[in-house]
Amino acid sequence: MQLLKSIASGIGRSFDIISPCRCICCGFNACEDGLPVCSDCIGGFYRLVNTPCSRCGRDIGLCECDGNPLTFLFWYVPGDAHRMISYIKNDADVRFARFFAELLVMRIKSQHRRGFDAVTYIPRRRRGIRIAGYDQAKLIATEVAHILGIDCITLLMRHGSREQKLLSASERRRTMVNRYSVIKENTLNSENQIYGRILLIDDVCTTGATLDACSSLLRKAGLKQVIPAVIARTPKRKDV
Ligand SMILES: [Zn+2]
Ligand SMILES: [Zn+2]
Repeated sequence: MQLLKSIASGIGRSFDIISPCRCICCGFNACEDGLPVCSDCIGGFYRLVNTPCSRCGRDIGLCECDGNPLTFLFWYVPGDAHRMISYIKNDADVRFARFFAELLVMRIKSQHRRGFDAVTYIPRRRRGIRIAGYDQAKLIATEVAHILGIDCITLLMRHGSREQKLLSASERRRTMVNRYSVIKENTLNSENQIYGRILLIDDVCTTGATLDACSSLLRKAGLKQVIPAVIARTPKRKDV
């Protein structure tokens, strides 16, 4: 809990100062103490980001029940988690992005000792950007890069606009191949070398198909290591 408070003061209590805002969990109470979570919701929020895997009992991110460990902040379950992701998708501003980025960086650092050369993200559908006015993964990736002191680069381009979540996992995999492409000229750093180790940010991991497809596209383009990190992960039925 103390940790959350120190993050809030790190952001300069901007939640209160810039403009009053509503709690990201209940959407009702006003924020206090520089946190985007109200005092009624803070306990639930703390539990949410500390809920271990129900299958192996390991902490979030350390669980390898589905193969490779994935860095994420909380399980994407009905209630506060769903409301927060909706906030991130529709009402986020730089303050919220910074808050989630601070938490995510802490988790990333606890799981990955080696640093990264740059941060990139999975781009949102154009229609989503038009409606919300921003790309939430880019917003968070920009803040993550800022905290880590490295570049945030746009490496992936999204084609088409069909809603992913309406597709089954196998349909997603089938259509994924042509959905994204790599912007080759952005894969080079200032010394004209291909970036080596990249952090790939998204808001939610549902089946993992998008992260897998984008990671393999980036590796095919020459990037050596692509480490995914997301805000929330949909549990398999037995996970929570
Ligand atoms: Zn609240
Ligand atoms: Zn597990």
